Amino acid sequence: MISIPPNVHYIMKLLEESGFESFVVGGCVRDSLMGRTPSDWDVCTDCVPERMKQVFSGLKTVDIGEKHGTVAVVLGSEKIEVTTYRVDGVYLDHRHPLRASFTSRLGDDLSRRDFTINAMAYSPRSGLVDLFGGAEDIRRGLIRAVGEPAKRFDEDALRILRAVRFSAALGFGIEKNTASAARQKRELLDFVSAERRCAELRKTVAAPFAARALSENEDIFFALVPEMSPCRGFDQRSRYHVYDVWEHILRTLDAAEGGDEVLRLAALFHDIAKPERARTGGDGCLHFPGHPKRGAEITRDVFTRLKFDRKTTDAVCALIEDHDCYLKPDEKQLAGLLRRHGPEQMERLFALQKADMLAHAPFVIESFSVELDAAHALFETMLERSAPVTVSALKINGGDVMRALGIPPGPAVGGVLEELLDLVTSHRLENTREALLAELEKRSSAGQPQ
Ligand code: ATP
Ligand code: MG
Repeated sequence: MISIPPNVHYIMKLLEESGFESFVVGGCVRDSLMGRTPSDWDVCTDCVPERMKQVFSGLKTVDIGEKHGTVAVVLGSEKIEVTTYRVDGVYLDHRHPLRASFTSRLGDDLSRRDFTINAMAYSPRSGLVDLFGGAEDIRRGLIRAVGEPAKRFDEDALRILRAVRFSAALGFGIEKNTASAARQKRELLDFVSAERRCAELRKTVAAPFAARALSENEDIFFALVPEMSPCRGFDQRSRYHVYDVWEHILRTLDAAEGGDEVLRLAALFHDIAKPERARTGGDGCLHFPGHPKRGAEITRDVFTRLKFDRKTTDAVCALIEDHDCYLKPDEKQLAGLLRRHGPEQMERLFALQKADMLAHAPFVIESFSVELDAAHALFETMLERSAPVTVSALKINGGDVMRALGIPPGPAVGGVLEELLDLVTSHRLENTREALLAELEKRSSAGQPQ
């Protein structure tokens, strides 16, 4: 019923031949039942780590955490994790069990797992072991805690975020009691490290059903990002909009489907500063002057607190800052933006603006999409023509500049390259080695730079 890869099968066979039980367990069983390809295969067994060394003698093994009972068996380029059945001890700080102890019963191990869909095991010999109705919950599309939900979230608050993440990834709803316990226990998220909060948020936002999962669990998201909560129910009082800020944001995220993580994060955070920047204009409507710039600042604060890496933060904030800039089919404007953002970010900027537009009032979509599409089409032809974007596309480099002008390394070199790039993008100079060297020669004999 579940097709187990040969390497995993081999490991299970070794355990069984030595008289131990062995099952594949957790995510791989869930994914297999759903017809998805599992990202990795976890094996569990009643064999304790010390004995595993004998069972796998002759194979390379790595201890991943002997005290947790996990040994990775290395087969070629693959590492398969084998974990001894265990029960968790008391939880100390809403996150870590004081100590885990081994058990010889599979059922005990399954009952410590977070959700019913993640608490199934399978072996060709015994078939599916599904003690909590996980297969039925897959059929119904539900995330349900194993056992008493409030207790399970109390033990480990990370599970609150995992519930939302699985909902976003699988398109499942969270079962009513599980969802309300997760919401009630959301204050415990403070006990989860910033790194883990960040990792779960990223996976959630990048997942296909993120908008729905965040909408259905908004209080949990606002506990993570309180800066966003003023957006909920914030009436935009503008003829361009038919949704409040939070709903507009979620619709933008949904419309940015298929986008990469940076684009999806930018969609989620792009209008975070609107409530703060709202001003009533002479027309009686609301306007939001400076909200892109302020939005990027707030987002940077949020991302810093959540320990996002610098590269992602910079990329997301750059998109937010320019999300409202009016993109026209104007080669000069696009060339300038292209130089600032680079081609990858420009594609994201177009996608963000398109998604943002689709979350506006219908007449906005009608009146502005033609121009945005035309700008995008022109941009694509510019890329095809491979118009140089950064100085690295120039057919000469800093060394050439230093030699030709007789100047030492330093900012002046980059400055000259930028000037040359400017001449090239505005079609005043050809991007060939000869033409560029001739231009440098001209400057050198004119005594530039000073
Ligand atoms: P993914 O596809 O994201 O890897 P997964 O279900 O395999 O999903 P992992 O984080 O790899 O998730 O964990 C493997 C298994 O360990 C889960 O299926 C679940 O049974 C159990 N598990 C992981 N984290 C927890 C937790 N915080 N509390 C309880 N059980 C957990
Ligand atoms: Mg996994």
